[in-house]
Amino acid sequence: MNVSPDNNPSSGATGSDRGAPLIVACPRCRKRGPWLEGRWKPFCSERCSLIDLGHWFDGNYRISEPLRPDHFAEFEELGDGVDPDQPDDALD
Ligand SMILES: [Zn+2]
Repeated sequence: MNVSPDNNPSSGATGSDRGAPLIVACPRCRKRGPWLEGRWKPFCSERCSLIDLGHWFDGNYRISEPLRPDHFAEFEELGDGVDPDQPDDALD
């Protein structure tokens, strides 16, 4: 058994998990940035997020019940980089 001592990394440099964030386009204004990392994901800002909500209330999107905070809770559980617009059938 000859284990090379060189096999032992001296520093904690292990890849780059937190490297460059994924750059995506804001669904509303198309500005590109690391929006999935941010508070208003997938939007670039609160403003774009609210504009999209406005579309909901305008009836562009039909929902069966009023929006409540717990409707948004499920989006909080999605990991970073998960696109809530992606259909679930990819999991099959
Ligand atoms: Zn935007």
